[in-house]
Amino acid sequence: MASGQETGKPFERLASVHNPPLRVIVVGAGLGGCAAAIALHHQGHEVVAVLDKVRQFNRLGDSLGLGENAYKLLARWGCNVREIQEIGNQAPTMKIRRWHDGKVLAEQPLMDMAGYIGHRGDYHDIFLKWVRDRGIPIRMGCDVVAYADSETEPSLTLASGETIRADVVVACDGIKSLARHLVLGARDDPVSSGYACFRAYFEPSAAMAADPARNAFLVDGDSVNFWIGPDTHVVQNTLRGGREFNWILTHRDDGDVPESWFQPGDMDEVRRLVSDIDPAIREAIRSTDACLDWKICYRKPLPTWVSPDAHRIVLLGDSCHAHLPTSAQGASQACESAGVLALCLRLAPARDDIKVATRAYEKLRFPRTRVSQTHGEDLRDRWHNVLKNVGQDIEIDPEMVKIKNRPLYDFDAEQDALDKWDEVSEKVRSELASGTIEPLC
Ligand SMILES: Cc1cc2nc3c(=O)[nH]c(=O)nc-3n(C[C@H](O)[C@H](O)[C@H](O)COP(=O)(O)OP(=O)(O)OC[C@H]3O[C@@H](n4cnc5c(N)ncnc54)[C@H](O)[C@@H]3O)c2cc1C
Repeated sequence: MASGQETGKPFERLASVHNPPLRVIVVGAGLGGCAAAIALHHQGHEVVAVLDKVRQFNRLGDSLGLGENAYKLLARWGCNVREIQEIGNQAPTMKIRRWHDGKVLAEQPLMDMAGYIGHRGDYHDIFLKWVRDRGIPIRMGCDVVAYADSETEPSLTLASGETIRADVVVACDGIKSLARHLVLGARDDPVSSGYACFRAYFEPSAAMAADPARNAFLVDGDSVNFWIGPDTHVVQNTLRGGREFNWILTHRDDGDVPESWFQPGDMDEVRRLVSDIDPAIREAIRSTDACLDWKICYRKPLPTWVSPDAHRIVLLGDSCHAHLPTSAQGASQACESAGVLALCLRLAPARDDIKVATRAYEKLRFPRTRVSQTHGEDLRDRWHNVLKNVGQDIEIDPEMVKIKNRPLYDFDAEQDALDKWDEVSEKVRSELASGTIEPLC
C-alpha cells in the first residue's frame, strides 16, 4: 500500500505478476486515459506515461455523470471518490416534465440516472490529480501521429518525431481516435444520430437570480429537471447550489454542424426552438448570451478494439464505445473498461499471453458497453415519442418516461471479468491458435 502524495490517503497497489512489470503507454489524458492509468498502476503494471496532444487542459465541456459502477472501481483503486461527490450536484431527485407546461410526469432519485452530475472540467482535474498522486508522468503537447504494432514492442510516433515503445499501448484518444484507424485498417466516418444539442453553462447574474421569470430553478439549492416533447428535450441542472447553471437542448439535426466540442450555437435558433416550452424555464434559456452547438455523432459498433497483427494496441473509452448523452455513462464505461483491461493483463502473466489479455478484454467489454449504449438510445426514443399525438388530458404512466439506469450501477466490471475469465480466455486461445478472431459484431 502506498500513500497518495496530495491527499495523504493510502491507495492500493498490487505487486506485478510480470517480471519485469509490463510497460504500458496510455494515449489521451481524458477521463478514460486517467482511469486507465490508475487501474493499470493498481494492478502493478508500469505506466510509462500518459500522453496528451493539448498543451494544457481548460475547464471544457459542461455536465457529466459518473455512476456508482465507476465509483466502486475508483474507490477500490484507492481514489478518494468523496472529492467527486462533494463538487457534484447535490439534488436528491430529478423531475421529468412535460414540454409545454412543466407538469411533472415522473420524479426519481438522481442516482437512477447520471449518478453524480458535475462539471466535466472539475472531475477531470480530480482524475488528473489522482494520476499525478501515483507518480505517473502526464506528458502534455504530445500529439501521437502514428502507431506501429509489433510482437515484441509496439510503438508510437509523436509529431515531434520522437518514438516511444512499450509492451502495450492503450489508446484513449476520444471520439476522433487516430488509433481506431490502425485497429480497423481503414478510416471510419462519423454517423449522424439525427440529433444535435445546443448547450450552455454559465454563472447566473445577480439580475437573473433575482428575476422571478428566470430564477425558478435557482432558489432552492441544486436542481435537475428534464422537459420532454416530440423529437426534443431539455436538460437543466445547477452546481454549487445554483451558482452555476447548465441547460442542454437536444433537437432534430437537419443542418451540417461539424463534430466538435467548440462550435458556437445560434441563440436565435435556440429561442425559436424553446418558444413553446414551459414558461418556468423558457426565459432562463432565451436570455442566455451564448451556447455551443454539438452534433451528436455515432460510431457504428466496432468489429474489433485491438490491433490485428500483434494484438498489443488497444482502444478504450470514446475511441471504441462512445455513448449518447442520454445514457450518462460515457465516462463510467471508460472506467469499467480501464478496470477490465488492467485486470486481464494481470490474469495472463506470461508475456506471450498479452494478446490473450487484450482479446479477452474486448470480448468481455463489448456486450456490456452495447447494453449501456442502447439504454441511452431507448431513453431518447421514449422521451421523444411518448407525447406524440397525445391529448393534453391523457395521463402518462411514469414508467414510460423514467430513466432505467439503476441496473447498470449494480454491476461490478472487475468481478464480471473474473467470473468469465476461464471461459473467455479459453475461447481466445482457440481463436488465436486457429488464426481467426471472431469479430465483436
Ligand atoms: C472537450 C471535451 C468536452 C466534453 N464535454 C462533455 C460534456 O460536457 N459532457 C459529457 O458527458 N461528456 C463530455 N465529453 C466526453 C467525455 O469526456 C467522454 O465521453 C468520457 O469522459 C470518456 O472520455 P475519453 O477519455 O474516452 O475521451 P475524451 O474525453 O475525448 O479524451 C480524449 C483525450 O485524448 C486526447 N487525444 C486525442 N487525440 C490524441 C492524439 N493523437 N495524441 C495525443 N492525445 C490525443 C485528447 O486531447 C483528449 O484529452 C467531452 C469530451 C471532450 C474532449
